[in-house]
Formats: sequence, C-alpha cells, structure tokens
Amino acid sequence: MKSKLFNTDIPRQCQHCVYSREFDSATEVLCSKRGVVGIRDYCRKYVYDVTKRVPNKHVLADDYKRDDFII
Ligand code: SF4
Repeated sequence: MKSKLFNTDIPRQCQHCVYSREFDSATEVLCSKRGVVGIRDYCRKYVYDVTKRVPNKHVLADDYKRDDFII
C-alpha cells in the first residue's frame, strides 16, 4: 500500500529518490542501485525522500499598496 503522507501528485524522479546522490552533473544523479541515471528517470525501487525536493517558489503579487499593510 502506498504511503499517503506526502502529495501523490509529485512526479517520480531519481532526483527525489532516497538512493540517489548529486554529483558534478546538472542532468544526472548517482544511484546506489543503478549507477549514473538521469534526474527525471525512475525505476520500481523508487522511494521518495522528502528532503531532496526543493518546492517551487511562490510568486507574490507586486501590486501591493501601503494601505494593504495597515491594520
Ligand atoms: S534508478 Fe531507481 S533506485 Fe536509483 S535513484 Fe532512480 S528511482 Fe531511485
């Protein structure tokens, strides 16, 4: 049974897998199971590691006025 602790819409990618490590490549990671793999690949041994995903930045609207911050 799949864990429901994390968002299931996050795509499976080697860059988020517990078995991967970064090295001197922007497009590949080093996997302890399969060696060098692409960051967007995955296999059936994939295990999500929440500490490896960098969330998208939220874009704030830049049309705030001074009155918006007065209580
Ligand atoms: S190849 Fe499989 S085990 Fe290795 S990092 Fe990718 S998903 Fe994880």
